[in-house]
Amino acid sequence: MTTAVVGAYDASREELAALMADQPRYRVDQVWRGLYAKGLRPAGMTDLPRDLRARLDAALPANLQLAAESRSHGSRTVKWLWRLSDGSRIETVLMRYPRRATVCVSSQAGCAMGCSFCATGQSGFDRHLTVGEIVEQVVAARRAAEPDHLSNVVFMGMGEPLANYDRVWDALRRIHDDIGLSARHLTVSTVGVVPGIRRLAREDLPVNLAVSLHAANDVLRSRLVPLNKRYPLSALMEACRQYQAAKGRRLSFEWALIAGVNDRPADARELSELARPLGAHVNLIPLNPTPGYPVRGTAPDGVRAFRDSLGRMGVNATVRQNRGTDIDAACGQLAARSAAAGVAGEAGGAALTSASAGGDVPIPRPARRRSAPNL
Ligand code: SAH
Ligand code: SF4
Repeated sequence: MTTAVVGAYDASREELAALMADQPRYRVDQVWRGLYAKGLRPAGMTDLPRDLRARLDAALPANLQLAAESRSHGSRTVKWLWRLSDGSRIETVLMRYPRRATVCVSSQAGCAMGCSFCATGQSGFDRHLTVGEIVEQVVAARRAAEPDHLSNVVFMGMGEPLANYDRVWDALRRIHDDIGLSARHLTVSTVGVVPGIRRLAREDLPVNLAVSLHAANDVLRSRLVPLNKRYPLSALMEACRQYQAAKGRRLSFEWALIAGVNDRPADARELSELARPLGAHVNLIPLNPTPGYPVRGTAPDGVRAFRDSLGRMGVNATVRQNRGTDIDAACGQLAARSAAAGVAGEAGGAALTSASAGGDVPIPRPARRRSAPNL
C-alpha cells in the first residue's frame, strides 16, 4: 500500500486501488464517483460495506478544516478560511448568481510574488497547495452552492497558480474530467509567469486565461508587480498571443484601479494599445485597501470614466463588482487578518521554494510582511 496519499482528493485512482486491493475492482470506480461526482466523504458512501467505509474514511482524510466563515450580500457571497493539516491557512470564496455559482480557489498558502497592493503578497509565501487541497475547495463550494449549480472555477484566491504549475494542472484535469466542469468555465489568473503561460498553451484543455496587468508600461508595472522585472511586458504580450493562437479563447486583463497611480488618461491609452491588438477584455476592479499599501482605490466616478475612455479607444471593459469588500473577500484578506491576530501558521517561506517540483518558477525574492509599499 502506498503512503503518498495526503488527503481524499490527493489519491490517484491507482492509489485508491492499492488501498482497496482486497475489494472487487468496481469498488474503485464507485468510490471515485462518490468522491468526485457526488462530493461525499467515504463515511457517507452508503453503497459501500460498513467496514470499508470506516477504513477509507480513516485512510482518506479531509484536507480542509473550517477555521472561519463569513457571509455577505444575503449569503450570496461566502468566504471560508480553511486550516490545512500542517496549520497553514487558505481561503475560498463562493459567489452565487441567479441559478449558478462561481468559486474562487487558492493555489498556494500565501504567495511569493510580492505584489505591493495585495494582502496575500504582503504576508509572504508558506507553501504550494497539493492537488487534493485545491480540488477539495471546489467540492466544498459545490456542496455549499446547492441547489444552485456550481458552474465556474476561477484561480483568483491566494497564490500564483502558474508558480505551482504541476499541481494546478492536475487539479484542473480532475475538476474537468471527474467533477465535470467544462474547460470554458475554468479560468486561470496569472500575474505573468511567462513559461507557465507557454506551457498552458500546449495543454489539451482550453481553459480561460486572465492576466493581472495593472500597468501597461514596464516602469510602473515593475513597481506594482516585481515579477515584471523578470518577464517584462513585451515577453508577456508575446506569451498571450501564443496562448490565444493555440486556444482561440478570449483573453482578459485584470486591472486593479489605484487612485492616482494607474487610473490616469495615459494609463488608459497605454492599456488600450496592449489590449486592442489582442482583442483582450479588460476587467476593472477598484483596489481593495490592504494594511501594507496605504493607497486608495479609484472612486466610482473615476472607474466609470476609465472604463468609458477604454471603450472610446475600442477596448471592451467591465467593472468587476468588488463583491464582499465588507467580508474582506479580496485576494488574501481574511487570511491576512487572521495572521495579524496571531492565528495563522508561521512556516518560513524559503524552505519550501527549494522543494518545488519541475515547472515551478524560481521565487523572485522573499516577501514576508513588508511594511512599506513599493511606491
Ligand atoms: N496570483 C494570481 C491570482 C490570484 S490574485 C494573480 O495575481 O493573477 C487574484 C486577483 O486579485 C488578481 O488580479 C490580483 O491582481 C487581484 N488583487 C490582488 N490584490 C488586490 C487588491 N488589494 N484589490 C483588488 N484586486 C486585488
Ligand atoms: Fe500573488 Fe497574485 Fe497577490 Fe501578486 S496579486 S502577490 S501574484 S496573489
